[in-house]
Amino acid sequence: MPELPEVEVVRAGLAPALAGARVTSVSVLDERALTRHAGGAADFVARLEGAGIAAVARRGKFLWMPLADRTDAVVGHLGMSGQMLLRRPDANPERHERIRVFVEHPVHGELAVVFADQRTFGSLAVDGLVATPDARPAGWGTEDPLIPTQVAHIARDPLDPAFDDDALRAALRKRGSAIKRVLLDQGLVSGIGNIYADESLWAARIHPETSASALSTVAVNRLLAEVRTVLHKALAEGGTSFDAQYVNVNGQAGYFAHSLNAYGQQGKPCPRCGTEVVREAFMNRSSHLCPNCQRPPAGLPKR
Ligand SMILES: [Zn+2]
Repeated sequence: MPELPEVEVVRAGLAPALAGARVTSVSVLDERALTRHAGGAADFVARLEGAGIAAVARRGKFLWMPLADRTDAVVGHLGMSGQMLLRRPDANPERHERIRVFVEHPVHGELAVVFADQRTFGSLAVDGLVATPDARPAGWGTEDPLIPTQVAHIARDPLDPAFDDDALRAALRKRGSAIKRVLLDQGLVSGIGNIYADESLWAARIHPETSASALSTVAVNRLLAEVRTVLHKALAEGGTSFDAQYVNVNGQAGYFAHSLNAYGQQGKPCPRCGTEVVREAFMNRSSHLCPNCQRPPAGLPKR
């Protein structure tokens, strides 16, 4: 599933082609891609055709394109397998193509944005913009303190300049739940999914089941620093294409999968100490960790 680095690669790829462009027409091939749009396909098309796109913004795993009137935005969520591809308007249909938005850009001319999605958990929607509570820019790629209503419950992400480290530290002190569960809570800190949670916890030498409130200030600071280091490195390497579904706007895979130390590495030696990396069940999913570097908290039942 695309996490912050993958979605940011897509955002950065779309921005130069779409900021300042105007939507000329919209073709909806599969209405399942509009499950988060309130008004159905005809309404989606009517609200977009002729609209100007002001920017391409992101917070956590959500993308949005504020429209020129600053009242509405097109919100995009990639879900499990969503792709946003930049194509020539007459390009052949993509596999799993759901929506094609035709735009005209003053410099780049006519382009198409293709939303393709194999598993159909992703979506596009036109949504209203509301003010951010802290009056700061809503996310990467926009200076506007305006956020789509569908994204307003999502916390800022750790790469956002307006992210509040002190507020996160205070929240962690009050949480008795496992630190990995807290890292995955998009209402507290956004953009981190299973891959980057496992990588950050491995780098910080913290067992995923450790209670958040049991972490020392030193450990919390180390974890925050490692979260940022891992996200920056993944971003620089184009994201993780572990399941071959995530690609950038040109259809190319990222190569951070080659830099993974813990996620998906079960059975391989820990790059730090040589102990075999293990996979353990966690919240209907899995955690990948080094049992030597990441010692379980006292009282955790043996598996
Ligand atoms: Zn190790």
